[in-house]
Amino acid sequence: MRHLNDNDKVFICLDRGEDLFSSLENLATQENWQTAYLSGIGAVEDVELGLYNPKTKAYDRKNFPQVAELLSLAGNLTLKDGKPFFHLHAVLSGQDYRCYGGHLFSAKIAAVCEINLQLVHGKVTRNHNANIGLFDCKIH
Ligand code: ZN
Repeated sequence: MRHLNDNDKVFICLDRGEDLFSSLENLATQENWQTAYLSGIGAVEDVELGLYNPKTKAYDRKNFPQVAELLSLAGNLTLKDGKPFFHLHAVLSGQDYRCYGGHLFSAKIAAVCEINLQLVHGKVTRNHNANIGLFDCKIH
């Protein structure tokens, strides 16, 4: 993983075999980043996606082991229990060129992953909201 800082903008390159979430979490910890939003593209494999069911307050989860084009990665960085927490969604495509996607639980880089991250001044934390069953944002 390599990254280039340009004031509050960061260009991040992940390499084949790296774990998307742990790489980003380690970088955020190392750089003391608290709040940001990001987008990205690349190629991934061993992906786990989720679809939140508000009635059961749980995610339906599905694994996609095959290599996929990461057409669009979008999300943000906040703090959860004092640690960096990335909330990411992904649109992927496979050999049939059809799109699928969802809430991203995990992904491994299959070739490259190129991320544009915009740091935000201030702090946003995640606290459990029993009404929706999720950890939603609290802006400080
Ligand atoms: Zn989500």
